[in-house]
Amino acid sequence: MKLQDKVALITGAGRGIGAATAIKFAQEGATIVACDIHEDAVQQTLHDCRAAGATAIGIAADVTDRSGMDRAVESILDRFGRVDILVNNAGITRDARFEKMTEAQFDAVINVNLKGVFNAAQAVVPSMIGQGCGVILNASSVVGLYGNFGQTNYVAAKSGVIGFTLTWCRELGPKGIRVNAVAPGFIQTPMLDSVPDTVLTRMSDQVPLRRLGQPEEVANLYAFLASDEASYINGAVIEVTGGLRI
Ligand code: NAP
Repeated sequence: MKLQDKVALITGAGRGIGAATAIKFAQEGATIVACDIHEDAVQQTLHDCRAAGATAIGIAADVTDRSGMDRAVESILDRFGRVDILVNNAGITRDARFEKMTEAQFDAVINVNLKGVFNAAQAVVPSMIGQGCGVILNASSVVGLYGNFGQTNYVAAKSGVIGFTLTWCRELGPKGIRVNAVAPGFIQTPMLDSVPDTVLTRMSDQVPLRRLGQPEEVANLYAFLASDEASYINGAVIEVTGGLRI
């Protein structure tokens, strides 16, 4: 198993890619800390992780709340003594064309998708430096590389996450911490629930593989990057898009 005896903190683990990642990591032998805004949101994830034989606990924490994230990490360190892997997965969308985007829409997405990544990473890094190793995986997006209509806020955050990755890989690499970003394309999760079927069909048609991705297909990459098999991969931005270029 790739992640035997590793302790993994996954934000936004209640559903979608975060839930699939928690379950995949559990199957690979990791101890799972599933974080979401509401603890009851992660109950199904915990059930599935435990069914895979893993130790799994849930933590209610909002990634935008810096002191809450610090407290969450303290409680993980009290319980397990270490955090080996952080998957900065929590994310939201508040789409609107640039001329119509409100300040509230802009701030909400920047707070969760960009500042939330900063908060969670700063909360875990001191203990990773102390143990001399760790892996941080950041959820970017294909739109963070190419831009997207109606997503000024989301694209700014997802491009910013690539900037974090490139900077932290330099700062933290010498301390034994690898930092990489994953840039999914269109993945079939509740995040796409608000997208009309006609638009989903158009999106699928744009993908050379002619289908949307599944959360497990992103989780597989996270598991590889989190494992020692990826020991020389640092500062990379890896696409999981079925070949899509927006
Ligand atoms: P999702 O199904 O909407 O799940 C996101 C999870 O994050 C939910 O469980 C949500 O909790 C949680 N969350 C939201 N705000 C949070 C906060 N402030 N603190 C802690 N947890 C919070 O999304 P997804 O599609 O799995 O996406 C996961 C990540 O991949 C996101 O960063 C997203 O931007 C990125 N991504 C997704 C796609 C795609 O096509 N799906 C493509 C590229 C990148 P609630 O349910 O309680 O709100």
